[in-house]
Amino acid sequence: MDGYTLIKNTSAYKIFNGDKLRGTLSHAYLIVSEDKLFLENYLKIFAKVLVCSEKEPCNRCRVCSLVDKKSFTDVVFYPLGKKLVVSDVDDLIEKSYFKPLEGDKKVFVLSDVADMTVQAQNKLLKTLEEPPKNTFLLLGATSIYPLLPTVLSRCKKLDIKPFSETELYNYLEGFLQGGDKLKSAVRLSGGNLGEAINRYETGEGALAENLAYDALINLKTSSQIADFSAKISKEILKDFISSLASIVSQAQNYALRGVGGNERIKSVANALSVGALVHVSQKIRTAEKAVYFNGNTVAVIDGLLFGIVEGKFKWSK
Ligand SMILES: [Zn+2]
Repeated sequence: MDGYTLIKNTSAYKIFNGDKLRGTLSHAYLIVSEDKLFLENYLKIFAKVLVCSEKEPCNRCRVCSLVDKKSFTDVVFYPLGKKLVVSDVDDLIEKSYFKPLEGDKKVFVLSDVADMTVQAQNKLLKTLEEPPKNTFLLLGATSIYPLLPTVLSRCKKLDIKPFSETELYNYLEGFLQGGDKLKSAVRLSGGNLGEAINRYETGEGALAENLAYDALINLKTSSQIADFSAKISKEILKDFISSLASIVSQAQNYALRGVGGNERIKSVANALSVGALVHVSQKIRTAEKAVYFNGNTVAVIDGLLFGIVEGKFKWSK
């Protein structure tokens, strides 16, 4: 599961592979993806585009499998330690003086350059400006904000945008068991492959979603709030809030139009009137803002749960 099938459909990949086929490759690319867990995997795919002798990476030849293992001599991966530091750039500069050993290209892969210190970025500038012949740099970044404008301006930037839920679900269904657990993991992932797999494996996506349904359907009085609140940890708070938001909007849709509700959504629409659903969705927006500004976790959770009780009471059916 390296995400190749997903990456092949991105415009970033199509532009890059097109550059290779047309012989118009730039010497430095900045590949941007928010997916911290899969960034290096994605960079491997781009590196294979450069060094595999097929039109597109075959994933079968010796070169492709060595790149996957990070042990192909002409493709060097950084950081050597945990984060990119000046000594990585020193090593890169030294190695860039040597010609490729096996093929006609020398490739340096750096991830995540968003972690790179200013000193290390400055040191890299010269190689970015005047790379030795047949040298290619693939910079992977989870964010471009920490990058110096001078670094940015010397790279061709390619964005790997979040995948759609359908794309991600269909892809993951080929490897993992489909169903509600996978659906909630994908929905809460923000279109991010690494996040989706993580939520699937830990079961946190499904847990957050179940707790959101539980609170909406079963929470009735403020004396129950402490019990519910204790189940929602800081780790799943964001997922809990986005699960609530999605469930409430589906329940509103079902209540107003009578369409699109599964059994659990119908139970929510039974437990809360349309007025109560609107009230809760306002509380959800407040909670989202509080989380964004790093508000106190317990206060955010209690505020939300109280909002549900209050909504049910004020707008009882
Ligand atoms: Zn190959």
